[in-house]
Amino acid sequence: MEQLVMEAMLSMHSIARSHDVFQLTREIPLTDVARRYGLELRRAGSRWLTRCPFHQDNNPSLVLFPDGRWRCFGCQAHGDATDLVSRLFNLRPIEAARQICRDFGLPVNNRPLSSETRRKTEEAARQREIEQAFKADLERIRQRLAMLHRCIFRSLRTPEDYKRLSRLVHAQPLLEYVLDELTSRDPARQVEAWRYARRWFPWVV
Ligand SMILES: [Zn+2]
Repeated sequence: MEQLVMEAMLSMHSIARSHDVFQLTREIPLTDVARRYGLELRRAGSRWLTRCPFHQDNNPSLVLFPDGRWRCFGCQAHGDATDLVSRLFNLRPIEAARQICRDFGLPVNNRPLSSETRRKTEEAARQREIEQAFKADLERIRQRLAMLHRCIFRSLRTPEDYKRLSRLVHAQPLLEYVLDELTSRDPARQVEAWRYARRWFPWVV
């Protein structure tokens, strides 16, 4: 077994020496590359689906095919692993291919990654991490506000209820506004709603 791994590594090494990093990236499954750079995949038969990072995609419209190619059926972006990484991190294709090889431990005998490229990649990765954390928080807040909305709705049965819960009754329109905005597809509006939620409903969020 170890022998096989060694041989595989050596053959990869010799490919790398031929400087064909593009060829080398094709040795790595596209799904591994996508996951490595933060995409969450869901299996659909022999294909995989993910939310497209290149447009505001609430339902997964990007399909990864078993032949190592991908296509977004929302914004029509498409390509292979190198194109994916190139677009994700705004790198030239050759830089993207080298980056993939390095991140998967495949030796590349080309000149070392420029500090500019490294900085760009790290910055973009950090940016994606922040975005994902924000999205998760947005969803958490949306669920709690929706629950509050249901509770208010159910508690208001008699005029006495309205009197007793007047504070919540008055909060209802704000709550509905924030919920609407949180589910909008416009990131700027979502951020604004997220701020309102924290300011107006601090005891919930
Ligand atoms: Zn897309």
